[in-house]
Amino acid sequence: MERECKKCGEVKAIEGFMKNKQCKHGREYVCKECERSRAKLYYQAHKEDLKRKSLRYYTRNKNIISVRWKKYYEKTKKERSAKQKILRNGPWGEKERERDRTYRKNHREKKRAQDRRYYGKHRDILILKQREDVIYLRDRYVSALLREAGNPVSPELIEGKRESVLHRRELKNLKEDLKSWDYGKMKSKS
Ligand SMILES: [Zn+2]
Repeated sequence: MERECKKCGEVKAIEGFMKNKQCKHGREYVCKECERSRAKLYYQAHKEDLKRKSLRYYTRNKNIISVRWKKYYEKTKKERSAKQKILRNGPWGEKERERDRTYRKNHREKKRAQDRRYYGKHRDILILKQREDVIYLRDRYVSALLREAGNPVSPELIEGKRESVLHRRELKNLKEDLKSWDYGKMKSKS
């Protein structure tokens, strides 16, 4: 199924629109890309206000929040101390150690097989997503660029980096980026 974006007018697959039960076919009328740039502009324009608001929320609800944490802490106290006791009372017997080793080994192999299956099944979409990150200069890609150059990452720095990349980028550069972009490298860094 496809839909025409009410903002940019592009016809896109329905998956390119955010989920919203109140809209026809359960999806928004404005595409994700448009929504993303709108959110970005909004954030830039209201940054200070938003920060103030969340600080105010925290200050006003400080007591409620800490009570909630205390309750959670009390509730999970027994569980935590039981776990700690097991850890403290080591070293375990040979039987327990052997069981633990076997469990870990099996678990690791299972997880690896799962990852392989997932990658095989979603390979195309993963590659596509990663290319989109580069093309649309998504946060994930831009922050990886910052990190790679040893810079800190913040919304402002991401914005600035994006601007500079945009200016520098030509079709030729984009091609190079696509070739050199390594998904595995990015995943291990984040
Ligand atoms: Zn759009």
